[in-house]
Parts: sequence; structure tokens; C-alpha cells
Amino acid sequence: MKLAVLAGDGIGPEIVAEAIKILDVLRAEGENIEIERAHLGGAAYDAEGHPYPLSTQRIARAADAVLLGAVGGPQYDTLPRAMRPEQGILGIRKDLGLFANLRPVLLYPELAAASSLKPEIVAGLDLMIIRELTGDIYFGQPRGRRTNAQGEDEGFDTMLYARSEIERIARVGFDTAMKRGKKLCSVDKANVLDTSILWREVVTGVGAAYPEVQLSHMYVDNAAMQLVRAPRQFDVIVTGNIFGDILSDEASMLAGSIGMLPSASLDARGKGLYEPIHGSAPDIAGANKANPLATILSVGMMFRYTFGRADLASRIGAAVRKVLAAGLRTGDIASPGEAVTGTREMGDAVAAVLRT
Ligand code: NAD
Repeated sequence: MKLAVLAGDGIGPEIVAEAIKILDVLRAEGENIEIERAHLGGAAYDAEGHPYPLSTQRIARAADAVLLGAVGGPQYDTLPRAMRPEQGILGIRKDLGLFANLRPVLLYPELAAASSLKPEIVAGLDLMIIRELTGDIYFGQPRGRRTNAQGEDEGFDTMLYARSEIERIARVGFDTAMKRGKKLCSVDKANVLDTSILWREVVTGVGAAYPEVQLSHMYVDNAAMQLVRAPRQFDVIVTGNIFGDILSDEASMLAGSIGMLPSASLDARGKGLYEPIHGSAPDIAGANKANPLATILSVGMMFRYTFGRADLASRIGAAVRKVLAAGLRTGDIASPGEAVTGTREMGDAVAAVLRT
């Protein structure tokens, strides 16, 4: 198992160090895991003058999977857009053809109090959001600025999906639903957008090959409402890039903290980039305060989706649950008055459970 490890910026190196402890336990058991480190984001700009430098491209392309911490920081805010840390992430997604973003939203019973919703609404929540990652209004051309006939400034972007792009993400949605509760909700805005009319038509067509999956369609505004009204109605949600961007962040709060949520971005052959959904948290960087569990759970997803090792993924998930059940809490998931555990101590605790 050949891994590229990109720690990135801010809390990235701290949380990735804890994920490496988990990999070290598995290596000690005899798992053949090779790790090669490279720079991404601001750290890459500092070291090599580009947020996704050639050296990183080579290592990421040669690896079976990529583990990423997070990128970004206020010190890079004044750089020209092409050199900003976020361009490193957009660049690697595009370069590796990572079109399918999988975000499980799982509420651990121990953390029910950390959710922003009432426990009776979120208890037992277990949904998967699948977001298309390489198309839509973030990439559609033309885009830009212009002056209109009245001499006023305009900004414009193009929402665009080709049939083949919708087909392949729809298949990921149906395949995922088949492995879970066999319910797929496709989210669009087909009452207003032509792109969405095609989206709905294509998803429905792909669904013909999956008679066992119960397919439903929902407008994005309703989906945003339903996610906080009755989130357990969903099993798998599939949607485009911009709707998925917003809905997956909304859904993340149902689980208490973004410090708990992993993600996978997959290509057509199962190669993936695995990262926590949160950013580089510059406000707590270097303070041993970051929650490393989202990154550790991202390692679990990597075993499940790229390496077909559901056994290792389950063990990592179980170890995390055990540590939470034992009462360990980083600051982001601690209730008022609860003792707070540091980043390193949380990583050590999960590694120790895994070892036993
Ligand atoms: P953020 O996710 O970094 O932080 C938001 C809040 O959540 C902060 O208060 C932070 O302390 C807290 N937080 C985040 N992760 C945590 C963790 N593991 N444990 C405990 N608390 C945690 O989002 P932001 O503040 O909007 O952005 C900071 C930087 O991260 C920006 O430069 C942004 O561009 C970048 N960013 C990167 C990614 C990525 O690498 N994929 C994603 C989002 C934002």
C-alpha cells in the first residue's frame, strides 16, 4: 500500500502525525504500508514556490492513495490566486481526476450532546453525502468579469455538466447506496436550472440499472431544510459540486464538530485522496488542541475504499468509538466542564486501543 502523505499547513502536520501513529501500529502488525511525504498548499509554496509543485505531483501520481492534513493560512491571503494554498487542493483533485467526494456524516452516540440539533432528531444519524468534485460552476467556462452595456461591472460563472460527468457520479451514488440502506436522494434545482434538468434526467436513467435502490429527487433548498428538520430520512445523497459543497458543510454540524468528519475523493479506479473536512484551523495551530479523529477516520476510509480492507477500517472506527466511550474529548467536542484531551494524547489513546 503506497501512500503519499501531505501534511499541509496550520494544524495539518499535528493531525497527520497522529494518523501516522495509527499507520505505525498496523505496520508493526506486518501490514505493508509505504509512506512518502510531500508538500502541498502554503508549505509547498514556501518550500518550492508553488502550491502543487512538480515534486508533489510525481509522488501523488505514483501513490495508490494520498493522505492530506489541511492547507491554508492568513499569511498566504495576499498571494496571487494561482499561488494560494487552495489552488494546491483544486490542482491535485483535477490532476488525479478525483471526481467523487464522499463524506459520511455519522453521529457517535457519545457525542449526541455536541450536535447543534436536539438528540432525538440526530440520534443514530448515519448518512453519506456524495458530491461531484471536478465540474459545475467552479470549473465551467466562460467565467470572469466584464462591463455591461450600461457601463456597470458584472461578474459571471457558468454552471455546466456533461452527461458523462453526471453518469459517473450517479453510478458512485447508486453503488454506494447498494452497500448501505439502498436509498439514494439526488439533489438538484431542476425547477430553475437547465443543468439540473439534465442532471435529473441522467440520474433517473442510470437508476434503471439499479432496481433495488429507491431513488428520490429533491430540490436543493428543500434538502437544506430537510437536513436540519429530519436528517435521518437520508441514506445516501448525490449532488453536484456547489450544492454538495454547501450541504455537506451544513450536514457536518449535525455530527457535532467538523473535527470528527473524514472524507474521501475518488477517481474512476478507486485511487483516492483522504482528508478531514475541516481546514487548517490557524487559530489553534501548534497548540496541541486540534482534534485528530477526522484525520484518523480518513485513514479508515482509505483502507475501505482504496485498499478494500474493510477489516482495518472497522478496527479504526471501533478504536475511535472506544476512546470516545472512555470519555476522552478534545476541546471542540467537550461539553462545558468536561476535561479536555490534547491532540497527541488523543492520537496515543486511539493507537493504544488499536494495539490491544
Ligand atoms: P477551519 O475548518 O480551518 O476552522 C473553522 C473552525 O473550526 C476554527 O475555529 C477551528 O479552530 C475549528 N477547527 C477546525 N478543525 C478543527 C479540529 N480538527 N479540531 C478542533 N477544532 C477545529 O476553517 P476556516 O477557519 O474557515 O479556514 C482556515 C484556513 O483553512 C483557511 O486558509 C481556509 O482556506 C483553509 N481551508 C482549508 C481546507 C482544506 O484544506 N481542505 C478546507 C477548508 C478551509
